[in-house]
Amino acid sequence: MDVDDHSPVWHPYTQMQGADIIPIVRGEGAYLYDEQGHQYIDAVASWWTNIHGHAHPHIVSAIAAQAARLEHVIFAGFTHQPAEQLAKMLLQRIPFHFKIFYSDNGSTAVEAAIKMALQYWRNKEEVRKKIICFRDAYHGDTFGAMSVSARGVFTHPFQSLLFEVEFIDLENGKVNPTDLDKFQDKDIAAFIFEPLVLGSAGMKMYSAKLLDELISISKQNNILTIADEVMTGFGRTGKFLATDYCSNKPDIICLSKGITGGFLPFAATTCTQAIYDVFLSEEKSKMLFHGHSYTGNPLGCAAGIASLELFETDNTFKKIARIEQQHKGFAASLKGNTKIKEVRQCGTILAIELKTAEDSGYLNNVRDKAYLFFIERKIILRPLGNVLYILPPYCIEANDLQLVYAAIDEFLKLS
Ligand SMILES: *Cc1c(COP(=O)(O)O)cnc(C)c1O
Repeated sequence: MDVDDHSPVWHPYTQMQGADIIPIVRGEGAYLYDEQGHQYIDAVASWWTNIHGHAHPHIVSAIAAQAARLEHVIFAGFTHQPAEQLAKMLLQRIPFHFKIFYSDNGSTAVEAAIKMALQYWRNKEEVRKKIICFRDAYHGDTFGAMSVSARGVFTHPFQSLLFEVEFIDLENGKVNPTDLDKFQDKDIAAFIFEPLVLGSAGMKMYSAKLLDELISISKQNNILTIADEVMTGFGRTGKFLATDYCSNKPDIICLSKGITGGFLPFAATTCTQAIYDVFLSEEKSKMLFHGHSYTGNPLGCAAGIASLELFETDNTFKKIARIEQQHKGFAASLKGNTKIKEVRQCGTILAIELKTAEDSGYLNNVRDKAYLFFIERKIILRPLGNVLYILPPYCIEANDLQLVYAAIDEFLKLS
């Protein structure tokens, strides 16, 4: 099937006029297959979601078994074994947290986190209502998540409707010292951040040392910290969480993308006991006012459990370490390349920022040229403007990663 103007489907982040949409029929490991049987290397892990590979049989059978037992139940007033088990397994990895709040995707995990933080202060009858975030942040596409994200090309059409926040600048991995004064403001409820890597901003990176300092400053000023680990969670940066590189721990963590191994829309927002306790009361009005129809979906929970099991049984962290090493070697080979502005790496993420005449940014024209170049070579890389990046499923074979590197070398030579 050639998807043409007659397809009723509207695709995300796609200018539909003239869009070339590829129908995919099957996935296995790091590969996707189209209708003609062409094999693609999924070097972006299907929008950063896939960690153990496509259609991994262990997760397939966990979902199938769960679907035959209980597909869904209202999660207000009811619970089920997979929800309880997954929460316990997550808390084993996040021992300083106390409760898990489920939702459906990264944006809702962030919405729940923001509402938790704001209602926390409300329940304590302290007036704190502003949020600090990075100027280039990306936290999702719903209105609350957009409000705490960059005012840029993604949010421009909605700008006048977004709530006000305090932005701090991250330049070359450093925060402007005057921006730190913003943490003194007694109206700040929370600081939300993508730990170590600002993904959609073009894989901009900063050190765990800086993040540790920012969390520490927040704590000194009684500001809640929200780590948006939607992209960085589940081993992406080399440890289970990116904040595992810090000694100061966030009060709230948002998880999604990799949580089901890339199988289902699912998310979790985790928090400390100190936060949870503020919602306990004789007064009903102090409950957390948030929830979704599919909160705690048993299939999502079953997939989440199976995915965490694979971390143990599939030597996942060994695979992660191997990818890290391989990336390091390739990054070293790019040293001195005059077409490149900067090469950045954090764990399994390798980003190559190209020098361009135009302003860099998401709509940079290099992006389309590069995307098509790699698609022709059956490699799925989806550059963020002039930033090429590799963010593979951890199961990717060493030789497939080499093929991706070789294609990048070729692209650099031709461009
Ligand atoms: C992708 C992403 C989100 C949004 O997740 P969706 O599931 O697309 O809503 C939020 N925060 C970060 C850091 C992300 O990378």
